[in-house]
Amino acid sequence: MRQVAYVDLTNRKVTIKPIPEDLLRMFLGGRGMGAYLLYNNTTKGIDPLSPENPLIFSAGFMSGQFANAMGRCHVTGKSPDTGHYGDSNIGGALGAEMMYAGFQHIVITGKAKTPTYLLVDNGQIQFRDASKLWGLDTYEVQLRLWDELQDPDVKIACIGEAGERKVGFACIRHQLKRAAGRTGQGAVMGSKNLKAVAMRGSQSLPVKHPEKLLEITRRQYDYARRTKIFEITKRWSNLFAWVVNNEREGIVVRNHRSNYFPEGYGHIDVDIFLEKYSEKMLACQQCAMHCQHRFTIKEGPYKGVMGEGPEWIAPVLFGAFAGNTEWDKALMCFEKTNRYGIDSLTYGLYQGWLMDIYDRGLLSKEATGGIDFNWGSAEAMSKLPELINKGEGLGKVISHGAEGAIKHLGPETGEFLYRCGRGLTNEPVNDRILRATCLGDQTSNRGNDHLRGRCNLEFMGLPADVLSKIIGRPTNPDPYAWDTKAFFAMWQQNLNTMSDCLGLCKFWTQWFAPDLFGFEQPLEVINAVTGWDMTKEELWTISERGWNMEKMFNVRDGEDRRHDTPPKIFFEPIKEGARKGLCLEPDKWNALLDEYYELRGWDKNGIPRPETLKRLKLDKEPSHIL
Ligand code: SF4
Repeated sequence: MRQVAYVDLTNRKVTIKPIPEDLLRMFLGGRGMGAYLLYNNTTKGIDPLSPENPLIFSAGFMSGQFANAMGRCHVTGKSPDTGHYGDSNIGGALGAEMMYAGFQHIVITGKAKTPTYLLVDNGQIQFRDASKLWGLDTYEVQLRLWDELQDPDVKIACIGEAGERKVGFACIRHQLKRAAGRTGQGAVMGSKNLKAVAMRGSQSLPVKHPEKLLEITRRQYDYARRTKIFEITKRWSNLFAWVVNNEREGIVVRNHRSNYFPEGYGHIDVDIFLEKYSEKMLACQQCAMHCQHRFTIKEGPYKGVMGEGPEWIAPVLFGAFAGNTEWDKALMCFEKTNRYGIDSLTYGLYQGWLMDIYDRGLLSKEATGGIDFNWGSAEAMSKLPELINKGEGLGKVISHGAEGAIKHLGPETGEFLYRCGRGLTNEPVNDRILRATCLGDQTSNRGNDHLRGRCNLEFMGLPADVLSKIIGRPTNPDPYAWDTKAFFAMWQQNLNTMSDCLGLCKFWTQWFAPDLFGFEQPLEVINAVTGWDMTKEELWTISERGWNMEKMFNVRDGEDRRHDTPPKIFFEPIKEGARKGLCLEPDKWNALLDEYYELRGWDKNGIPRPETLKRLKLDKEPSHIL
């Protein structure tokens, strides 16, 4: 029996409920059920940092099962960073351990009177004193708890000081690098005086057809490990994408000054990272791809710095975006954000912005507290994470949202802080040149989001018939073309929603490479585990339902078409390079948005139509079934 635990921190009360099977079949688990629980446990306009805003941990529907790369966990809560729907997805071993501990979901509300951590232990949830953990960074918290519980196998999600201070982009950290990163779920956790959630369990998970599951998982593993992308990723991680995206001018350099970073070659190269820093490869539970590096800086001023990752976006953010060509500095800064529990992506975007306005003379040295914020400054990259962590100086200025920071530093600085319609800082990718990707990213319910809407297949040069077969409709492979891109974006969003509902890592799906998993492979696993007779169409509808559930949360708070608007700079022609002159054209963008809304069954304002909600069985929400 799959269960949800409601934890009330104010009254130190736990209520456990079984999840009805028909509700499971509507949302599965992970992100979809997280959206259901958020919508059903909040009201319009809820303050993200109020005790009433729930922090929801959701194991994927297949987390803990003998299934390839399906062990991930989702965290959901209204975002203090944007004021919109918020969530984030964690790898590692958290999702599986939650299931072994007896819970598919834990819904945490209220506010503890004193610093507290939760011990989720084989069907029981205890409130424990965390006063000695308060003020510790995320590495220290995990070490202390392993010691206190005398069990290094306990899986821990925790916050650093940034979360305690409710920094808008504080994350929830698990292990050295895994994180619920974007949308500030660490601040939601801190607002509840909740320092950590420690999980352990040994409960077995029912499987309807175990031999069939064994056969499916082995077959899918044998298939996946023979793909080229599997071989590449297990050696390079997704760092290879740094090279690819730099070469195709798909990145953002020095806060949108350009899209190509040739000065990085020979310095901040992937091969140099492999040779000088990477020590071994690590994996999340249930995954054979082991795509994560363990790295150490072995010499120089940062000697001894050790961490995990980095993903490809790190050399973009801490390299090209910050005008830095040195791995040492990039890894040092990246590691600090991990240690302090700061979302490294949002951090890197703010850091690049500050360097940009410093360079333009809009930020004085006096305003930085005497810190050199020139492009690539080691001093800035070392001190800014510490200032955020301690809530001091410029760190404090940027801690509580873009609006406050712009107000403090001057309205003229706001022009250079690029944000999407939902207010989330825009990712450092040149999405204006990719039509389906731009649409998929910008219409994402938590704000522009490569993990929802990025259509990686769009720029792989696939033949039209191959791409069309994957997407299931005729699809134009030209990334600059406007036709057929609305369905492409929706297909990608639904595929990614399905992954997040199951706990499936997207590196195993057609989000990442054309010959990896689509809907069919996970479907086999679902039916073997549950004994259901689910069809691909039903799985597609579940994904649509999850997407619309998130949308309903935002719509209830007053969201409409305006919030699907990309940053202004996307409508300005690229100034140099091979993509010179390319941009989004307002008429074509609006037509694409209309087409997308129509496919989603939404009106011209981006609001789901009543008949769409009825078709998706969402017309009675909030249903409070659970
Ligand atoms: S591919 Fe990488 S991120 Fe994905 S589950 Fe495997 S180890 Fe984790």
